[in-house]
Amino acid sequence: MSDFYAVVFGAGICGTAIANELNKAGKKVLLIDPHVSEDAPGPPAGLVNPATGMRAKLCWNAKDCYEALRNQIETLMDYSGRDDLVSDSGVLRPAINEKLAKNFKKALDKYEWPEGWVRWMEEEEIEELNPQIASNLGGLYLECGYTVYVDNYLNTYRTYLREQGVACRYEEADYQYDGSAGQFMIQIGDDERTAEHVVVAAGYRTPEFKEWAGLPLEGVKGQIVQFEAEEDLKWGHAVSAKGYCMRRGKRKLIVGSTYEHHFDSLETTEEAYKRIAGKLDIMFEDVSSKVTKQVQMAGVRVTTPNRLPVIGRHPNNDKMCIYTGMNSKGLLYSHYGASLLTDHLVDGKEIPEELDVHRFEG
Ligand SMILES: Cc1cc2nc3c(=O)[nH]c(=O)nc-3n(C[C@H](O)[C@H](O)[C@H](O)COP(=O)(O)OP(=O)(O)OC[C@H]3O[C@@H](n4cnc5c(N)ncnc54)[C@H](O)[C@@H]3O)c2cc1C
Repeated sequence: MSDFYAVVFGAGICGTAIANELNKAGKKVLLIDPHVSEDAPGPPAGLVNPATGMRAKLCWNAKDCYEALRNQIETLMDYSGRDDLVSDSGVLRPAINEKLAKNFKKALDKYEWPEGWVRWMEEEEIEELNPQIASNLGGLYLECGYTVYVDNYLNTYRTYLREQGVACRYEEADYQYDGSAGQFMIQIGDDERTAEHVVVAAGYRTPEFKEWAGLPLEGVKGQIVQFEAEEDLKWGHAVSAKGYCMRRGKRKLIVGSTYEHHFDSLETTEEAYKRIAGKLDIMFEDVSSKVTKQVQMAGVRVTTPNRLPVIGRHPNNDKMCIYTGMNSKGLLYSHYGASLLTDHLVDGKEIPEELDVHRFEG
């Protein structure tokens, strides 16, 4: 019998979610990540916004994804007593040109929005909500949208997992499949453990795991900037137009993002800073000249041809699993995707075709 049912490589948004789901299903889990801790720096904020892109398309299985994430956030808030994991900010999507106005209005009828999630706001109402917003032709207001303070969220999550019995090791580890025993040998320093399954949830580093090297995953670098305003801002919602802006505290604005398909390093750049400052100028008329830059950060999102996550088992070794490809919706997809992978591994349920890693075969 193996020491663990699964070892999860990566304790980011995906790894924590799959470790939690497997643990909830009564399975022993080892979570490994050499780059983080329970007190790690991280992205200051991420948006949960089910209205995707310039067409405000309702994202894949939005209600299930939304509820799965929210349930876990509520659990983490109850467990930790912290009130700084999220802000129920809502998301305003101002139509800053006619094309967006047309798209956004169309989206209201085109998709089956759950009750109370979204409504149209006329320009006057938007101005009342936010006197600093750039001129617009009305827009969408997503009552359901909110801001996650990702650093606080992930650190709390990792602590929670440890206390729920997940073995968490924040150090380098290696693995090897022992075919005769039908299990993986996990080497962490001098410590050797065994596990029935490996789940690779290593974000853009997933292709560094040789079994997953050939998948059509693309790493797209993104940079964000945190600004501080000169005085307290009188609005708390997030904004998503040709870029996005989230609020933190009384004065902080987190603005993103770039989409860099070709990059040599994860260094932040002056060029990206200028583009992001330009996005702030598009969203607000009277803010950008009154803010100072505090931090600039870069990360990589893993994109897939159908813009959906990748979950499932390796074609040549069904104990080697993958959970990645969250595109720009990592938060929203994380828990529902993890529950699908768990149901598949534990109960043999089918993975939806559009998410299954087998979609890339051939
Ligand atoms: C600039 C930017 C802005 C974004 N904004 C949003 C947003 O507003 N809302 C949203 O939902 N999503 C957003 N995303 C997307 C979101 O961040 C990703 O979808 C999400 O981080 C994916 O989570 P992950 O766990 O797959 O990967 P990651 O977050 O990359 O985590 C992977 C983890 O694996 C670890 N790891 C790597 N190699 C190994 C190894 N060999 N062994 C063990 N562990 C390893 C890493 O240390 C890391 O902790 C944004 C992305 C970027 C880049």
